[in-house]
Amino acid sequence: MEKIRLEALFRKHGFNDFKWIKAGDIVVSQWVRFKCMFGCDSFGKQGACPPYVPSVAECREFISEYQHAALFHFSTSLEKPEDNRAWTRKVCTGLLKLERDVFLAGYYKAFLLFMGSCYICSECEGSRLSCKNLKLARPSPEALAIDVYATVRQYGYPIEVLQDYKQELNKYGILLIE
Ligand code: SF4
Repeated sequence: MEKIRLEALFRKHGFNDFKWIKAGDIVVSQWVRFKCMFGCDSFGKQGACPPYVPSVAECREFISEYQHAALFHFSTSLEKPEDNRAWTRKVCTGLLKLERDVFLAGYYKAFLLFMGSCYICSECEGSRLSCKNLKLARPSPEALAIDVYATVRQYGYPIEVLQDYKQELNKYGILLIE
């Protein structure tokens, strides 16, 4: 894999804060899926989240088919919680363009995990089958039962449980590449 060429592509798209990680270091845990199922008010209402994603075992198997991944770090402070949607959409739209360029560079297995829920549409249709943008929708790491806390801390990246939405928010997208 030509990491230098790929890094140039990342930077061309404005993504400068990233680290290469081993895909095998991505932590997949059943408890993450339970958090989606119990305690998240988007369960069943988001087309790229559980229950419209594969089982935890399938997610683990999917990730095991990759050796490398680029972990992208994003941080912000939001004025109000509603601002999260616009910020997430902007970041993820850029990441989708990057995923396409990485694919076109010959990395045919390139697969993006969004930074947060899929907010491509102003309102989600609420299921995978009724999704209005099937080609653009991607799951978040959490939707694939990835323990983002355990995964990013291995690489020295910050992530904390927040007590107030005005605290600095650290979020992560992952591009799986072979
Ligand atoms: S692309 Fe739109 S309809 Fe599809 S999952 Fe994302 S927000 Fe929902």
